[in-house]
Amino acid sequence: MTQNDLQKTPALRGLHTYAGGCLCGAVRYEATVDLAGVSRCNCTICMKYGYGGGAGMKPDAFRLLKGQDAIKKYGRDGSPNTRSFCSNCGVVCFGDGDVPELGGKFVSIYVNTLDDVDPSLLTFGYWDGRHDNWAAGMRSTPWPFQAAA
Ligand SMILES: [Zn+2]
Repeated sequence: MTQNDLQKTPALRGLHTYAGGCLCGAVRYEATVDLAGVSRCNCTICMKYGYGGGAGMKPDAFRLLKGQDAIKKYGRDGSPNTRSFCSNCGVVCFGDGDVPELGGKFVSIYVNTLDDVDPSLLTFGYWDGRHDNWAAGMRSTPWPFQAAA
C-alpha cells in the first residue's frame, strides 16, 4: 500500500456513517458505527453465513434505506435474534435482535457488505460462540472449532 492509498482509505476509527447493501442493490442501508469494534464469531450460524465479521450498534444508528420488501429474515426457533438477507441475491446484510447481557437491542452489519470499506484493513476481535464461551470475551486470535481437550 502506498501513502496515496492510505489517504484514499476512509477512516476506520471513530464513529462514521457508512453505506452498504446487498449484491443486486435491492437492499441498501446506512450505519453510523465505529469499525474499531468489529468481530467474528465461530458459532455454527456465523460460520454458515460466511464469517465476514460484524459491527454492532444500537438500532437507531442503523437506517434501512431500501429493500424492506426484498428482505427475508432467518432466526432459530424462539430466538429474538435474526439475520436479514436479500431474497433476490441471497446476501446477508445485517442481523438484529435483543441480547440483554450485551446491552439489549442491537443491529449488527456484516462489514463485507459495506461499499467502501476494505475488510482486510480492519482488526477483528474473535468470539468463541461455538462453545457459548461468552464470558471469555473477545480475543485477538480466532478460537479453535474444537474445545480444548
Ligand atoms: Zn440483493
